[in-house]
Amino acid sequence: MAQFSFLVNARPSTLSREFLNGTYAGGILFPPDRAAAATVAALAGPLRRRFVLADNGAYDTIGKIAASLPPSADNAARVKAVRTAAGAVDPNSQLAEQLAVRPDAFIGPEDITLACWLRAGVGETDLVQRRSELRRRNRSVARRGLTMQAAHPELTVYTVASAHDYDSAFDAGQALGDTGVRAVAMGFGAFMADDSWTTRIKYGGRWLPLPQALPMRYLRTAQVVRGFFDGWAAAGSAAPDRFHFLGLGAPVMLPLSAYAARSVPSVTYDATSPIKDAAQGTLYVSEPAKLKVRTWNVLERMVLDPAHRWNCPCQFCRAFCLNHPFDEARIQMLASQSRPLTAADLRVGRVAAQAVPLFAVGPGPLGRAAEQARAGHNHWTVGLTLRRLSAAVDLRAAAAADVATYVANAGAAHFGQSVAMAWDLVSAGNA
Ligand SMILES: [Zn+2]
Repeated sequence: MAQFSFLVNARPSTLSREFLNGTYAGGILFPPDRAAAATVAALAGPLRRRFVLADNGAYDTIGKIAASLPPSADNAARVKAVRTAAGAVDPNSQLAEQLAVRPDAFIGPEDITLACWLRAGVGETDLVQRRSELRRRNRSVARRGLTMQAAHPELTVYTVASAHDYDSAFDAGQALGDTGVRAVAMGFGAFMADDSWTTRIKYGGRWLPLPQALPMRYLRTAQVVRGFFDGWAAAGSAAPDRFHFLGLGAPVMLPLSAYAARSVPSVTYDATSPIKDAAQGTLYVSEPAKLKVRTWNVLERMVLDPAHRWNCPCQFCRAFCLNHPFDEARIQMLASQSRPLTAADLRVGRVAAQAVPLFAVGPGPLGRAAEQARAGHNHWTVGLTLRRLSAAVDLRAAAAADVATYVANAGAAHFGQSVAMAWDLVSAGNA
């Protein structure tokens, strides 16, 4: 049965036994720029027993290349410029730094061309015309992955597949499956950061019209993960030993993606979003559904309904609230306020922030401690979700139930519809 777990991004604040145990972390992901002596030293002792995956830092390189393009460049010019710039970069140029953290595994060969095209805003219509080029690029990466694995037999080398839709992902799965790659990583961070909408998707060589315009992020993520494993199956190979979702931590996407990757024994995830969201006042919840909620909306409900309290059982919320409890009198004071609460109300020092210090945002010890507690909380939600999916007797039923509660509780209907369609893409035709 597949095991799903989250790899915590290495930071001074996350490299403690308390944080890793309290979040059910499956291990640690080390970006190469964090391979400083201090953080590596933190891996001595008990932490050393954790699974350590060293990232190659390509995500930052991709951003730099996309940002370096002249804003006036048309699509064709951007496609060419990216191809040249991406071709000049070796995504494993920081291999020495990657290996310096003495990892169990590292993110190996990657062709960043497609990721740069996506980040530079090259449209779907242009991308689908490059299917054969992308197939060739994935084949080449797969071969490099085998070579690198042979050079590092004591470590697991993750070969990075790249795709943007079902068809390119199918080709990538087939290419890597054919070649004999055993550990695969794919990037989803750019997909989930995509705010664009679409009225059609390309699937199995055909454009399918959607009933209405829907957010692209969930649909692309679902198409790529489904396409990859369909392609892998078409290659006739046994499932890979390991699959890593780079940059995927959105609560509702965990059950969908886990179901799509269910044939893989060891499935891991990483994302910095649980940390970034915590900083901005966004909390991950599992009840009533796998949602991201805004702290000021939670507080508003607390103000309106005294029975509604943030009673999270995680060790981060409990420990913080023990030291900084809710102030019921101040919560009631907010009831007399006629305007809705906003993010600004939760700045350190404001009444709302004093009412629920856990939601406080800002500099100083209180703001930092609250942010750290929220980051722990978000990781705990993700870790617990993956732990439950690992233990699910019927993974399909568990994922379908998560999608149904999300659709019933999503703030905006189009998000629910998009996730429902993403689930259809992932689950259609599968027993
Ligand atoms: Zn919590």
